[in-house]
Amino acid sequence: MPAALPAGRCGAAHPDDPTPCGGPAAVTIADSHGAVVGGCEHHAARMLASLDGARVAPLPAGPAGAAVRVFTAADTLRPFCWIDGPLTLPSQLSRAENRDRDRR
Ligand SMILES: [Zn+2]
Repeated sequence: MPAALPAGRCGAAHPDDPTPCGGPAAVTIADSHGAVVGGCEHHAARMLASLDGARVAPLPAGPAGAAVRVFTAADTLRPFCWIDGPLTLPSQLSRAENRDRDRR
Protein backbone atom coordinates (compact mmCIF):
# COMPACT_ATOMS: atom_id res chain seq x y z
CA MET A 1 0.00 0.00 0.00
CA PRO A 2 1.51 3.37 -0.97
CA ALA A 3 2.24 5.93 1.70
CA ALA A 4 -0.36 8.61 2.19
CA LEU A 5 0.43 11.75 0.24
CA PRO A 6 0.65 15.07 2.05
CA ALA A 7 -2.56 17.00 1.56
CA GLY A 8 -2.56 19.46 -1.27
CA ARG A 9 0.46 18.15 -3.14
CA CYS A 10 0.75 16.22 -6.36
CA GLY A 11 1.64 12.56 -6.76
CA ALA A 12 5.23 13.35 -7.77
CA ALA A 13 6.03 15.11 -4.48
CA HIS A 14 8.42 13.02 -2.39
CA PRO A 15 7.24 12.78 1.25
CA ASP A 16 10.59 14.15 2.47
CA ASP A 17 10.58 17.07 0.01
CA PRO A 18 9.06 20.01 1.91
CA THR A 19 8.37 22.24 -1.10
CA PRO A 20 4.86 23.08 -2.29
CA CYS A 21 3.60 22.29 -5.78
CA GLY A 22 4.56 24.63 -8.59
CA GLY A 23 1.14 24.54 -10.21
CA PRO A 24 -1.47 22.01 -11.28
CA ALA A 25 -0.64 18.49 -12.49
CA ALA A 26 0.99 18.96 -15.89
CA VAL A 27 2.83 15.74 -16.73
CA THR A 28 3.17 12.09 -15.80
CA ILE A 29 6.36 10.43 -14.62
CA ALA A 30 6.81 6.71 -15.27
CA ASP A 31 9.52 4.87 -13.36
CA SER A 32 11.57 2.04 -14.84
CA HIS A 33 9.02 -0.51 -13.56
CA GLY A 34 6.07 1.20 -15.24
CA ALA A 35 4.54 2.88 -12.19
CA VAL A 36 3.04 6.21 -13.28
CA VAL A 37 2.14 9.30 -11.26
CA GLY A 38 0.85 12.70 -12.28
CA GLY A 39 2.67 15.74 -11.01
CA CYS A 40 3.24 19.44 -11.18
CA GLU A 41 6.25 20.60 -13.19
CA HIS A 42 8.27 21.39 -10.04
CA HIS A 43 7.91 17.99 -8.35
CA ALA A 44 7.96 16.06 -11.64
CA ALA A 45 11.38 17.54 -12.47
CA ARG A 46 12.67 16.59 -9.01
CA MET A 47 11.31 13.06 -9.36
CA LEU A 48 12.70 12.67 -12.87
CA ALA A 49 16.14 13.79 -11.64
CA SER A 50 16.01 11.30 -8.77
CA LEU A 51 14.95 8.09 -10.54
CA ASP A 52 17.16 6.14 -12.93
CA GLY A 53 15.28 5.22 -16.08
CA ALA A 54 12.25 7.42 -15.39
CA ARG A 55 10.38 9.05 -18.28
CA VAL A 56 8.19 12.14 -18.54
CA ALA A 57 5.09 12.50 -20.71
CA PRO A 58 2.62 15.38 -21.08
CA LEU A 59 -0.91 15.20 -19.71
CA PRO A 60 -3.37 15.64 -22.59
CA ALA A 61 -4.98 18.66 -20.92
CA GLY A 62 -1.72 19.98 -19.47
CA PRO A 63 0.01 23.19 -20.49
CA ALA A 64 1.92 23.18 -23.77
CA GLY A 65 5.62 22.39 -23.42
CA ALA A 66 5.35 21.10 -19.86
CA ALA A 67 7.14 17.80 -20.52
CA VAL A 68 10.03 19.59 -22.24
CA ARG A 69 10.33 22.06 -19.35
CA VAL A 70 10.35 19.18 -16.83
CA PHE A 71 12.94 17.24 -18.84
CA THR A 72 15.16 20.31 -19.18
CA ALA A 73 14.89 21.24 -15.50
CA ALA A 74 15.62 17.67 -14.36
CA ASP A 75 18.89 17.73 -16.28
CA THR A 76 20.35 20.32 -13.92
CA LEU A 77 18.78 19.05 -10.67
CA ARG A 78 20.65 16.76 -8.32
CA PRO A 79 18.92 13.54 -7.29
CA PHE A 80 16.93 14.05 -4.10
CA CYS A 81 18.02 17.69 -4.11
CA TRP A 82 16.07 18.46 -0.94
CA ILE A 83 18.57 16.40 1.13
CA ASP A 84 21.38 18.40 2.72
CA GLY A 85 24.92 17.12 2.97
CA PRO A 86 28.11 16.78 0.95
CA LEU A 87 27.31 15.82 -2.61
CA THR A 88 30.37 14.64 -4.50
CA LEU A 89 29.62 11.19 -5.94
CA PRO A 90 28.44 10.96 -9.56
CA SER A 91 25.16 9.46 -8.36
CA GLN A 92 24.58 12.59 -6.24
CA LEU A 93 25.21 15.10 -9.03
CA SER A 94 22.94 16.28 -11.80
CA ARG A 95 23.26 14.85 -15.30
CA ALA A 96 24.61 18.22 -16.46
CA GLU A 97 27.25 18.22 -13.68
CA ASN A 98 28.33 14.69 -14.61
CA ARG A 99 28.63 15.67 -18.29
CA ASP A 100 30.80 18.65 -17.31
CA ARG A 101 33.02 16.40 -15.16
CA ASP A 102 33.41 13.91 -18.02
CA ARG A 103 34.66 16.67 -20.35
CA ARG A 104 37.52 17.65 -18.04
ZN1 LIG B 1 3.78 19.02 -7.06
